[in-house]
Parts: sequence; structure tokens; C-alpha cells
Amino acid sequence: MSGNDCIFCKIVRGEIPCHEVMNTETVLAFLDIAPVRPGHVLVIPKAHHPTLFDLPPDLSRDLLSGLQAVGKAVMAATDAEGMNVGMNVEKAAGQLVFHAHFHIIPRISGDGLSLWPQTPSDDHETLANLARTIRDNVS
Ligand code: 5GP
Ligand code: ZN
Repeated sequence: MSGNDCIFCKIVRGEIPCHEVMNTETVLAFLDIAPVRPGHVLVIPKAHHPTLFDLPPDLSRDLLSGLQAVGKAVMAATDAEGMNVGMNVEKAAGQLVFHAHFHIIPRISGDGLSLWPQTPSDDHETLANLARTIRDNVS
């Protein structure tokens, strides 16, 4: 999908309204239309890049700075004691809008959300092989 049809590009261009929380030269942040919890914010680059892996270095830096600024603001403005920060990458991981964006989801102790169902592993041979394979693919 190009920037023309992209829903977040339409928000950046002002063609679709949003509840804006931060607006810089390169980064925009606004409330998610379907919040996991109140204060769920999306932080996006204004330029259209489909996924995390498409973001150029300078823009990645701006996005991370925006994420920190908005994250602190969400903490100050809500009853949050912490937050989950995440980016869904590709359809298999739940990405629905292919314009890279961070989610900020405010959390309080005992709010009942369980985002990371984990299974402990002590199979160190498998872990070592997997680590080596990933290491070999780091460019
Ligand atoms: P994804 O699943 O791609 O990581 O997340 C896309 C997010 O965008 C979802 O949480 C969804 O609620 C939000 N979203 C989709 N369309 C709109 C919209 O038009 N306005 C706003 N504010 N959020 C949207
Ligand atoms: Zn876009």
C-alpha cells in the first residue's frame, strides 16, 4: 500500500481527524481509536514506511525520541505505573496498518492484562543453536 491510501498518512495530512498528543517535524502521536487501556497512544513517523525494518536511521532516532517524550507524558497524565511499548511487525504479529507505529499502552499493577505468555526452557543445546543461527544473520 502506498502513502496515498494509507490511513495513517491520511491522519498526517489532516484528511482523517485524530486526537493528537504530539506533533513534531517528523513524528506524530495520537490516541488509538480502540484503546487497550485509556491513554493508549500511537507514535508514528510522518513519512510512510511500512514496517520497522523500512525506517531510515535518522527517522528511527526521531521516533525513539518521540516515544520517550510521549511515554513520559502518558505516565504523567494518567494513573499509569508503567507501560508496554511495542510495534507489531507484519501480519503474523498482528500488524493491521502498514505504516510503522509504536503502541504505548499504560499499565497499572493488577490490571489483568497478560501480553507475554512465556514457557521457560532449559534446553541449552537448542537455545545455543538458535542463538548461533540468529547471530549469523545479524548484518
Ligand atoms: P496494528 O495492529 O497495525 O499494530 O495497530 C493499528 C492500530 O491502529 C490499532 O490499534 C487500531 O485501533 C488503530 N487505528 C486504526 N485505524 C485508526 C484510525 O483511523 N484512527 C486512530 N486513532 N487509530 C486507528
Ligand atoms: Zn502511511
